[in-house]
Amino acid sequence: MSQKAASPRASIIRCASCDGFGWFDDEFDGESADCDWCAGVGYVYRRDGRDAAIPKADFAAVADALERLEHERLRELGYQGAAKKPWQQEIRKDTQLGRNPYTGGDA
Ligand SMILES: [Zn+2]
Repeated sequence: MSQKAASPRASIIRCASCDGFGWFDDEFDGESADCDWCAGVGYVYRRDGRDAAIPKADFAAVADALERLEHERLRELGYQGAAKKPWQQEIRKDTQLGRNPYTGGDA
């Protein structure tokens, strides 16, 4: 992967601490906790070689970039194709979103 030339704006990189997950599984009690380094975002600003958590106030501005990075990350992890539609997600099965609005079924 090649980096673009340095720009005065901060670039957004995958959090080195949690590798983009945004959280950790605690090996001892099985609980998961947000990553302190990126505040649970999974990505951080890199500015002048230093990383900093992305403030909540910036989320709207960086949403597109984060989504692109997240697609990249999921591809690396082996996910293929597009994100699942809500009605294809097991977790939404019995909810309003669990129904396919196009077929009326749950395909
Ligand atoms: Zn992190």
